[in-house]
Amino acid sequence: MKRIEHLGIAVSDLETSEQIFTDVLGTPPYKREEVESEGVITSFFKVGENKIELLQATHPDSPIAKFIEKKGEGIHHVAFAVDDIEAEIKRLMDKGYQMIHETPKDGADGKRIAFLHPKASNKVLVELCADK
Ligand code: ZN
Repeated sequence: MKRIEHLGIAVSDLETSEQIFTDVLGTPPYKREEVESEGVITSFFKVGENKIELLQATHPDSPIAKFIEKKGEGIHHVAFAVDDIEAEIKRLMDKGYQMIHETPKDGADGKRIAFLHPKASNKVLVELCADK
């Protein structure tokens, strides 16, 4: 893996959190995007080489709604940039790690993504993230 691509932060109210992170980071979000398959609306900020992704659920069955119900708002996942996402998935599965997505899917911000099961990695949800 190359570097941290972004941190995903689960929020209840995107408007409010966009304002908070605009203040904290000193820069406004550069895009908002809905990922229907994940039941989320996302908002992205650039911080140097890295990004912050705010995620708000669009319906009560969304993984983000369930996360907030269980744990409250806060850091949801760490995304790592990879060159060859298929090879990274295979590398991890060969070592016995459980993937949520065994094949990459389309994520926000023009990426192909796959999540490692948090049970496999100290309850830290890890996202692999490759350019399309
Ligand atoms: Zn993400």
